[in-house]
Parts: sequence; C-alpha cells; structure tokens
Amino acid sequence: MKEYLKEIEKEALGRIGQVSRKQDLENLERKYLGRKGKLSEVIKKIGMLSLSERSLVGQTANRVKEKISRQIQLKKGFLKQLPGRAAKEKIDISLPGVLPDIGHSHPITQIIEQIAGIFSRLGFHLVEGPEIETEYYNFEALNMPVFHPSRETFHTFYTTDNFLLRSQTSTVQIRVMEKRQPPISVIAPGKVFRPDATDASHSFMFHQVEGLMVDKKATFAELKGILTVFLKQMFGSKIKMRFRPHYFPFTEPSAEIDISCIICKGAGCRVCSQKGWLEILGAGLVDPAVFKAVGYNPEEVTGFAFGMGVERIAMLKYGIDDIRLLFENDLRLLEQF
Ligand SMILES: [Zn+2]
Repeated sequence: MKEYLKEIEKEALGRIGQVSRKQDLENLERKYLGRKGKLSEVIKKIGMLSLSERSLVGQTANRVKEKISRQIQLKKGFLKQLPGRAAKEKIDISLPGVLPDIGHSHPITQIIEQIAGIFSRLGFHLVEGPEIETEYYNFEALNMPVFHPSRETFHTFYTTDNFLLRSQTSTVQIRVMEKRQPPISVIAPGKVFRPDATDASHSFMFHQVEGLMVDKKATFAELKGILTVFLKQMFGSKIKMRFRPHYFPFTEPSAEIDISCIICKGAGCRVCSQKGWLEILGAGLVDPAVFKAVGYNPEEVTGFAFGMGVERIAMLKYGIDDIRLLFENDLRLLEQF
C-alpha cells in the first residue's frame, strides 16, 4: 500500500506540473484530494490493516496528501499571476532590433576622401603611383642628383640597391608628366615611408596628398587661390592663411603655408606651440629642372605643386594628440569616427 501511495504522489505531481488552466487544476484537486479522490480511497482502507501497518501507512498517506496539496496551492498562485505577467512581458514588435556591428572607413581614409572630394570639385583628377620606387623617381627626376645635399633631408628606406620605399608622393608627379602632356591637374594620395623613430608626432609610415597643376601659364596666384579654397573648405571659412618662404628641391620659389590655429584661433595654445599658427602645406612653382627631366620645355610651360600630411590634418581636425593612435586599430578610438 505504501508503494501505491508513492505512485499516486508521482502521478499527481507530474500532472500538476503540466496543467496550464485553472479548470484543469481544480479537476486534478478533486481527483486526488476530493472526498471520492484517490487518496481518500486509500485512507478508507487503512482500517483494514494490522495495527503496526496502520500508523506507517497513515503517516505516509498524510505526507503525500500534504505534498500534493502544497503543489496545487503553488500552481494556483502561479496561474493567477499569469495574465498580468504575460501582459508585462509581451513583445513590443515596434522596438528596433539589435543591429549587428558594421565597419566603416578608417579616419585617415575619411580625411583622404574629404581632401580628394574638394580637389575633384576644383577639376583635379585622382592618380596613384607605386610605393616601391627607384632612386630616379624619388630623387634624380625631382632635382636631387646623387650627392645633392638635400637627399640628406629625406632619410629613406632602401629595399635593395636602387629600390626604395618612396619618401614622398612627389614621385607620382614625374610618372604622370612622363605619360601626359599639359594641361595637367592631378592629386595623388598615398603612403610614404621614412626611417624616423616612432613617437607622438612621428611614424615610419604616413600618408601624403600631392597636387600638381601644369599649363601654359600656371601662376603662383592660381596656386594661392586653389589652396585658399581648399583650406577654407577643409578647416572653415574663418581661418587665416600665411605663406612663408621655404626651400624644396623640386619647386622654385617654394613656400610653406600656415593656417591660424583652429584650436585657439590664433591666441596661442599647446597645439600650435603658442605661435597661433599651424603649418599645413608645402608648395611652390615646379622647378624648371623637373620639367626638363620629364621632357617638357620649361620655356613653354609652368606649373605648381603642393603636398600635405594626412595624419597631421586628421589629428588637428579630430583633436588626436598622438599619431600612434591612428595605427593601433583600437576599436575604442575607431568607433568615434
Ligand atoms: Zn593654438
């Protein structure tokens, strides 16, 4: 009889666990605990047992009854809560879903695209050249013959004798002029390499954008006009500009172009070393020796070239104070752009 009670317990608890309607639960209660229920029938028969068996079976029957009763009460409470809970937990199908992470352009690529966009609206075409160059394109054709002292200022990575990683994008000017006749107006963005020790403002690899315009009469005034339009579109119409005389082997005359500091507006701050000005571009009229190298007649054509560092512009525009951050590919930085 004890075994039979255990069976009733197992069966009852299993069924209570499965019901999901109040009505079904009440039927189960009646079936097991009611006056004509399964347990009552067993209890009625206890009187027929021997005295020793009687108390043992009686205790077991009471325990089973309590257990079933407790489970029914718990389930009743649960079913009562159910409508409220369902209302609270219902799915709002108008909520936006969880979007997967989508990649985007690196901040350096974004700046290059911005620069290229401004110049393409000014009529410049985008061109590219190889990153591994010969000494001829990196030096000789750019008016830096062997033993020319200015080669010293362009520290260079050599791969093998005569081959090197280009130290400036001016190499592309030569390649374009060799293949085409004026008028030419191109910009050439790309990577350049210099064996500099890496620190907050130096990297052995960085990006430049080089510009070149050649025509029968390309003047310094045109150069100034184009760079003014570019810098105002890039840094805002309120910036001021100044041209400082400078020396580059491949341009004559040459200038460095500063803009008024975009952080302190010229008052002087840490970024501009208290000067109020930021050096942004190098430029000048193409040296006649460069025209000779590509087979142009310097008596018939004139031209101007300019170059700028992309990382420097990105750092100024985005307020990044360490160039290394741009190459570490830390998502915490990249996600901000
Ligand atoms: Zn400043």
